[in-house]
Amino acid sequence: MRYQRSSSLFQEAQKFIPGGVNSPVRAFKSVGGTPVFIDRAQGAYLYDVDGNSYIDYISSWGPLILGHAHTEVINAIVDRAQKGTSFGTPTEIETELAKLAIEMVPNIDQIRFVNSGTEACMSAIRLARGFTGKDRIIKFSGCYHGHSDSFLIQAGSGAVTFGYPSSPGVTQGTAKDTLLAPYNNLAYVAELLEAHQGHVAAVIIEPVAGNMGCVLPDHDFIHGLRKLCTQHEVLLVFDEVMTGFRLAAGGAQEVLGIQADIVCFGKVIGGGLPVGAFAARSEIMAYLAPLGPVYQAGTLSGNPLAMSAGLAMLQALNRDRGVYDRLEKKSADLAAGMSSVLDKTSIDYQINRLGSMISLHFTPEPVVDFTTAARGNNARFNAYFHGMLDRGIYLPPSAFESYFLNDALSQADIEKTLNALDELVPALEATNV
Ligand SMILES: *Cc1c(COP(=O)(O)O)cnc(C)c1O
Repeated sequence: MRYQRSSSLFQEAQKFIPGGVNSPVRAFKSVGGTPVFIDRAQGAYLYDVDGNSYIDYISSWGPLILGHAHTEVINAIVDRAQKGTSFGTPTEIETELAKLAIEMVPNIDQIRFVNSGTEACMSAIRLARGFTGKDRIIKFSGCYHGHSDSFLIQAGSGAVTFGYPSSPGVTQGTAKDTLLAPYNNLAYVAELLEAHQGHVAAVIIEPVAGNMGCVLPDHDFIHGLRKLCTQHEVLLVFDEVMTGFRLAAGGAQEVLGIQADIVCFGKVIGGGLPVGAFAARSEIMAYLAPLGPVYQAGTLSGNPLAMSAGLAMLQALNRDRGVYDRLEKKSADLAAGMSSVLDKTSIDYQINRLGSMISLHFTPEPVVDFTTAARGNNARFNAYFHGMLDRGIYLPPSAFESYFLNDALSQADIEKTLNALDELVPALEATNV
């Protein structure tokens, strides 16, 4: 049996870890079946505990943009580990990583390191509230900003109604300060800002969404959002946990030509170790403790081990900007190849892509927000996911996730992926429900 050892490890894990996983999407709940347990990875490939190998299109959900076990990153971690992993004191490497990140990203003067994207977004909105003296935030349905209470909110019935918790354990009190808007709907945001005039501290957005599949911002929407925020004296927070250092050295701000007020990072900035960060101009960052009144802290924040991985990663990206052109070419080839396979079939599909973020939705209409993303054919997606997995292609186990290509991926890997898709077409056509 192809996944025998993974199956038994999953059985065992479920006894001791809720659902057998430490982050829900890993459990394959939306696609069914047993999650694959990975033993090791190198370059573009994952190797599981049953001896199967996979071309990896997740890259650890984004961080490993240069591929797995990249020599410079691994050497930096090993060298650093031998000198001790954390001291609870300032270290020089924190400043080195801060300087480099600020040099690569437009429009930020100072940066604070945390341990995850969740922490970065949670802290960013606290800072926005402290800075503006206002309580409410606007977020977009289908955007994910980590699992802190303020973001686990779903839309109420109209623009003027408050949100309500999307998870038990989040209080109504918290929910009433989070307002929801549909992605790519500027008029809706304008209506919210009017209705809640003087109460909104920040609008937070994934400038290119990657948590409802990949959804691109409409040009007028994202530029209009910047204008609206300025008009209403509301901070625009770009959650670049996915897009930062991935779409370009300067992230979505650079690609879209928009300056946000606060920018959140995670994933690539940690080189595969747990790092998040948030950054802004000095005037805003001065509100943070110990300089200012907004409290934020972390025992392991900026620890030298994690910083060494992040620094090696950003140094490699900064030295060789060609990486972004290579990723663009590979991603464009993959998307074009998928289209040419699927165009010969009766299958309705949409491919959304910006740079090395791609998603495939089995639906006839353009996917522009959460509602249109949710109309995809689930049975077909599940057949696609498992069919590709069985052929050694590791895709995100949910239609609501983006692929993240990495620089280790070869043209031959892309060919192999397209051949697998081609082989799978009859099975996909058979899921016409
Ligand atoms: C992954 C992600 C987060 C959360 O980061 P964690 O490190 O998983 O806490 C926040 N925002 C976006 C856009 C993400 O993709």
